[in-house]
Amino acid sequence: MLILPQLTSNILFMSQKSYIKCLECNTLNLNTDYCKNCGSIINITLKRNLEREKKIQKNKELEKANKPNKIDEFLQSSTEHPNGIVRMFSRVVYAMWLFFAAVVGGLIAAVIAIAAG
Ligand SMILES: [Zn+2]
Repeated sequence: MLILPQLTSNILFMSQKSYIKCLECNTLNLNTDYCKNCGSIINITLKRNLEREKKIQKNKELEKANKPNKIDEFLQSSTEHPNGIVRMFSRVVYAMWLFFAAVVGGLIAAVIAIAAG
């Protein structure tokens, strides 16, 4: 007999309707994570989780970009070559590589920015 009140309150809780108002378009939504009108996330917990995941992803990409890569290291070391011609040539190649890396890096950043909206 002690179980019964607990059970009925559970049923009451489960049948409780939760209306969430969309912050974007002020539409009232019933029991949903996404707005039925404009599709934006209205579940705050879900939204926070997604934002956290996005941040982690971004940090990973930044880490990758900051790692010195093999080509960079090789060109850097060859700019200190004892032979003057080799040194000059490597400097030109290195400068070109740096320019190329900057352009590609800029493109990747732009793509990420577009994808992130
Ligand atoms: Zn909406």
